[in-house]
Amino acid sequence: MKKYYWYKNCPACKQGRLIITRDLTHERLYLHCEECEMGWLNSSDANENKNGFLTLLVDFETENPTLETIQKNNWSEIANHSFEE
Ligand SMILES: [Zn+2]
Repeated sequence: MKKYYWYKNCPACKQGRLIITRDLTHERLYLHCEECEMGWLNSSDANENKNGFLTLLVDFETENPTLETIQKNNWSEIANHSFEE
């Protein structure tokens, strides 16, 4: 079981959850939609549905971040929800 933290529903497809994902290649977090595979580098861009990128077209390594990593990046305030699977 892994725990995933997510922010809100995706502004693009309105269905997927924006999962906080760690980009290991650039050492940063981003929001990744589980449905349409769009990504945003910060919550304000996601809120306005701007500067999104299609994660499938970008070449980087990712992992599911721990809550500690999320806190270190000051993203705990947008880790509104979580689920395990
Ligand atoms: Zn989406």
